[in-house]
Amino acid sequence: MAHDLVVKNGKIVYPWGIVEGDIAVNDGRISVIYEKGSTYDAKETVDASGLHVLPGLIDTHVHIGWPDWPFEEDLGPTTKAAAAGGVTTVLNYVMAPESLVKGIEEQKHKFERGSYVDGCFHGMIFSEKNIEEIPEAAQMGVRSFKFFLPYRGSEAVPPAVGIDDGILYTGFKKIAELNPKGRALCHCENIEVFFKLKDEFLKQHREDIDWHDTRPNFSEVESIRRVAFFAKETGCPVYIVHMSVKEGPEEIRRARAEGVDITGETCPQYLTLTKRADRILSKVNPPLRDTEDNESLWQGLNDGTLSCLGSDHAPCAKKHKTEFWSAVVGFAGVQTMLPAVLSEGVNKGRLTLEKLAEITLNNARTFGLHPRKGVLSVGADADLTIVDLNKTVQIKAQNLYHISDFTPFEDMSLKGNAVLTMVRGQVVAKEGKIVGRPTGKFIPAYQQELGL
Ligand SMILES: [Zn+2]
Repeated sequence: MAHDLVVKNGKIVYPWGIVEGDIAVNDGRISVIYEKGSTYDAKETVDASGLHVLPGLIDTHVHIGWPDWPFEEDLGPTTKAAAAGGVTTVLNYVMAPESLVKGIEEQKHKFERGSYVDGCFHGMIFSEKNIEEIPEAAQMGVRSFKFFLPYRGSEAVPPAVGIDDGILYTGFKKIAELNPKGRALCHCENIEVFFKLKDEFLKQHREDIDWHDTRPNFSEVESIRRVAFFAKETGCPVYIVHMSVKEGPEEIRRARAEGVDITGETCPQYLTLTKRADRILSKVNPPLRDTEDNESLWQGLNDGTLSCLGSDHAPCAKKHKTEFWSAVVGFAGVQTMLPAVLSEGVNKGRLTLEKLAEITLNNARTFGLHPRKGVLSVGADADLTIVDLNKTVQIKAQNLYHISDFTPFEDMSLKGNAVLTMVRGQVVAKEGKIVGRPTGKFIPAYQQELGL
């Protein structure tokens, strides 16, 4: 039998080591992994000599359309950016306060008509009504639910109103009842502390402060501790999104020692950027911090305390970022995630490629996408990211596919980039350019277990 396609002579990256060999694909799945020098028939080959072949990256944290593009308008740009940046699966947040189930249905339909990569969704919880929808959403393959702790009062994000501890408690209880398991995703910051600090800074007419000064490290730490305590009381597995502080890994270890099922995620911006970046354009929640926070988070990824990596891609436009206090938070990041990690992590000795493969596996396992996604093994989807560790790209927003008109990585030279991205055996991007069509699929979480 001839293979549809073989990626040959690559250095195949597994969590346990790097082995030279050839990956054969049939019907969109990995059919054989050959030792170097094997013979076989192939209709098409891709030569990966001198390059590394990683399992297609999974971005656990993507907000398609944030803050003000319709989902269908931003779907193409965001998923093209993903593919060009070596990401083959995105986990997108569905924000539909009026009906989560309806929001999931609508976005799933649109996603399968216009996405360049595969994806799954997280649901966002704002109300008792959303909590009641959790079992139905879970049956649709959405089993992770986000709680936006620090967005209320003047910081609320319309049309959503803020949540309180009652929503957190009843939501956690409902998620804990799901089988296979669900997971509560928490944005951890203490908003009352922010309100007080903001008042003080405004009274003092302070122009010299960074966003970090308004949301100091301890406000994230306190929130992680409280979420862990709620998780312990309710038995709900939790996941702390976009961890930014140096104290974070220790908090995860502490909660785990108490028996809490807790997972931590961090993002390239918290690993590589600091509060010295542009204070308005780089305004994000939680804020960019300091180099010692960067180093602690790299360490947390290395020792397995932080298991997951996502970009928190929020393709905000410059026009929303003009004044310090009113600027919308967030920025695009799905296309710069892999080069930032390869350049500042792998090429600077902070992270091994094997560890990056392990993180990709963790991302898939945590959200019920394994064994289809996250691994290079026979039977898995042929999602491959081929990288050249020596390829340097100078980042320019105008060259990135996202809809946003800036990037906090502007002008940075990042060494290590994706040179080919394959989704289910189809080459979608080559040398940072889209060459494929939008054939992305919605992949339900725990697909096999649910028989979906
Ligand atoms: Zn986010």
